[in-house]
Amino acid sequence: MKAAILEKITSLKENKQPLKMVELPEPVIGDVEILVKISACGVCHTELDEIEGRTPPPKLPVILGHQVIGVVTYRGKRAQKFEIGTRVGIGWINSACGHCPACFSENENLCVDFQATGRDVHGGYAQYMAIAEDFAFAIPDIFTDAQAAPLLCAGAIGYRSLRLSNLNDGQHLGLTGFGASAHLVLKMVRYRYPQTEIFVFARSKNEQNFARELGAVWAGDTSEESPKKLHVIIDTTPVWKPVVEALKNLEPAGRLIVNAIRKEEADKDYLLRLDYGRHLWLEKEIKSVANVTRRDIEEFLALASQIPIIPEVEEYPLIEANRALVELKEGKIRGAKVLRIN
Ligand SMILES: [Zn+2]
Ligand SMILES: [Zn+2]
Repeated sequence: MKAAILEKITSLKENKQPLKMVELPEPVIGDVEILVKISACGVCHTELDEIEGRTPPPKLPVILGHQVIGVVTYRGKRAQKFEIGTRVGIGWINSACGHCPACFSENENLCVDFQATGRDVHGGYAQYMAIAEDFAFAIPDIFTDAQAAPLLCAGAIGYRSLRLSNLNDGQHLGLTGFGASAHLVLKMVRYRYPQTEIFVFARSKNEQNFARELGAVWAGDTSEESPKKLHVIIDTTPVWKPVVEALKNLEPAGRLIVNAIRKEEADKDYLLRLDYGRHLWLEKEIKSVANVTRRDIEEFLALASQIPIIPEVEEYPLIEANRALVELKEGKIRGAKVLRIN
């Protein structure tokens, strides 16, 4: 099969060809696994973190990609969940142990043995992938393959962020950063919490305008003061400035959710501007989001088909995976990037 592999950690600024196209044998399937013939795989900011070493794969080479859509072409001896030919999706959660305290308390995303698709095991930048059937999901018919791919990460983690925020209908919500995940959160909130006003902080005017078009009551720069204090803010930026600036806009007892797997180091000294009285006092909380559970993916796919949430996508053939990654790094974004495969 054709696959794009990462052989070594590298800087995308200096190396515009981080992945290499190679021919590999098809994966061998275990008893409870299925073989998926891949048709689409989303390109996520986390791939940049993997390539540049902020969340490095434990073993190289590895096939990246954790927003995978394809069709079941083969089942292991004890795999019965899906018929051959069923369209399925695979997300960031590839496996969890199933018997640690985290797994028992519905927090399998925090499992000590959590394995991530496309980092700890091979992912979807390839023609085929193997997965335990319990970690694959049926995809609602309403979505095309390319539209469904970004729902598996940007959408599911946005859904988890919103769950962790404990937002109530009518409370004010801030979104700092307005990329793939935040714009899906905005659509979800408008449907589930119709009384909630949404305030968007984004650097570019285009993003601010886009946010207003989608129904944000206010949009401004990351460092601005919002016209109303906010009960919840969800941060989806890769840097520190928006975290510090967001805290001043929180209501007493407000909660800032940081939805990022790693933050970049470039502006870390901005944290020295943190003023306890202004930014943290009055019982403000900061909570990070880590990974997703299967429940997050299942519930979000159902909700997204019901609303419906149809992501805007920009497609690339698999052989142009490097171009897609470089454009993502450079911020050239028109909707979620998706690789077309087979
Ligand atoms: Zn992702
Ligand atoms: Zn576990």
